[in-house]
Amino acid sequence: MDKRKYITEDGEHKEDIIVSWIITHGCPERCAYCISPEKCEEITDYETHKAIQDQMIATGLTKNRYIGGEPLLLPHLPKLIKEAKENGLNTRLSTNGILLTKEKLIEIRDYLDSMALPFESCNDELNRSIRGTKNHSEIVSSRIKMVREMSDIGVLVNTCVHKENINELEKLAYHLETLGIDHWKLRMFNSSSGRGAVPNKNRFEISEEQFFEIVDHIKSLGLNYRIDGRLPSKLNTRLMVSPTGELYRMIGGDDEQVHYGNVLTKKLNIREIYKRDGCN
Ligand code: SF4
Repeated sequence: MDKRKYITEDGEHKEDIIVSWIITHGCPERCAYCISPEKCEEITDYETHKAIQDQMIATGLTKNRYIGGEPLLLPHLPKLIKEAKENGLNTRLSTNGILLTKEKLIEIRDYLDSMALPFESCNDELNRSIRGTKNHSEIVSSRIKMVREMSDIGVLVNTCVHKENINELEKLAYHLETLGIDHWKLRMFNSSSGRGAVPNKNRFEISEEQFFEIVDHIKSLGLNYRIDGRLPSKLNTRLMVSPTGELYRMIGGDDEQVHYGNVLTKKLNIREIYKRDGCN
């Protein structure tokens, strides 16, 4: 199918009001660099999730990124995505692909603009030692092929760049070209918060110089998709919603976040906050 739905979030889309909704911290993987906290109390029912989404739409949301943890753990996620799209939103799902079956894709494909998947490396032994699950490369590759064959959803790949996969990235870059992705975002490992990232600072940390050297090298390969290198500080301006419906921004560690309160109980106005605080 044609790559017709993918829109990159750059200066051309200044009117977008975007939220990254961490709908759950639960996940079947245990990545050693994970920036999610341990799963604790969360909203799990459709009605409350719908009410949160409705409040955000009513106050100006134009793009919803459903992220996690693993959002596909929620049985009613397809319903939320469908309702967002029917209200004119641009929708993105971030998934590790494990729970993405053909049936699930059929349920969501008409309502999803883009999908983001993580890709560690083509080396599944290395991947297993980092993510704790088997066949990561095989699983993500097959999911990307399936999305490409069965839908016009844009495909974005996210890679956390760290000490253990930095020398595997050139090989991955060529592999991603064969899969026909739209966009590869490389993110430098960030040890400031998270169940995996904090204890594994020494295992994964690289310098900004090492990070940009590999990003520049990959950009020089002349591949047929967009490539971006992002520092952890990019998260500072992103508006996030927690699994309990709290709106916040990540400035640094867990104790350095900007908290706005609960979307629902405080009836927060998303557009107003987004514009006032220069989010993007
Ligand atoms: S980084 Fe890994 S463990 Fe953490 S949410 Fe993503 S897929 Fe799950």
